Amino acid sequence: MDLSRTLPTIALLLILLLASCGTDSDVSSDTLDYTPQARVIYESPTDADEMAIATNLQAAGDIEALVAFINETFELPQPLDIIFGGEYGPLYDPETNEIYMPYTFLTEVEERFAAAEYTDSMGVTAEEVTTHALMHTLFHELAHALIAMYELPVVGREEDAADSLATLLLIEFYENGQDIAISAADLFNLESADRTEFDEEDFWGEHSLDAQRYYSILCHVYGSDPEQYDHIRTDTGFSDDRAELCIEEYEVLARNWFLLLEPYMLDAAQ
Ligand SMILES: [Zn+2]
Repeated sequence: MDLSRTLPTIALLLILLLASCGTDSDVSSDTLDYTPQARVIYESPTDADEMAIATNLQAAGDIEALVAFINETFELPQPLDIIFGGEYGPLYDPETNEIYMPYTFLTEVEERFAAAEYTDSMGVTAEEVTTHALMHTLFHELAHALIAMYELPVVGREEDAADSLATLLLIEFYENGQDIAISAADLFNLESADRTEFDEEDFWGEHSLDAQRYYSILCHVYGSDPEQYDHIRTDTGFSDDRAELCIEEYEVLARNWFLLLEPYMLDAAQ
């Protein structure tokens, strides 16, 4: 064996090995004080429509703001990925701790609002209202994620709990949270109007009916600020008794959710 030729090769291999170890140890030293974070992943769009959605989403920055909100507000015990793309969703998968949001969801929502000529009646664009519905949906999935990660006790239907927590977080932490929630409620109202007949499967469903989700969100928005949102009471015509209950219901929701979430909330958020 010609050592004069082999040794430099071995030395080179050692250097490469140490260099790669260096990279590994950098990672492991980072993990010592590593805090799991939420992040967003935009999967490669599969066609021009998806490309346009992905580009607009990233340009608007709403999703990045949501991710920043999660990371500033909650101490996550494990990383949470919000993944745009694919066919499945919107859903939260507790196995992987990932939220899936297909690009096509936005297309469907925008088309639904456009078909109802929502733009003309409410003075907001179909694009804005679609973003609102997307945000409430992402908060709904975030609610499932928080319930799963912190093993929060939920009595009653988790889907109702997730709707309530989504609305609560938007109202309490977002400047236009009530508007976002109202747009989401309006989407449920439109979807509800599409359904005139129900079968047993609808009543067996894990979610409340779209009409119930619509009234429930509006009730909580009203309850959060009855003076500001008195028009909801007059527009939808719910009774004074129910209006009082909405106020109480929102107080109970806020008190109990924050009681459950407080141990996991970062100081800056409180
Ligand atoms: Zn759900």
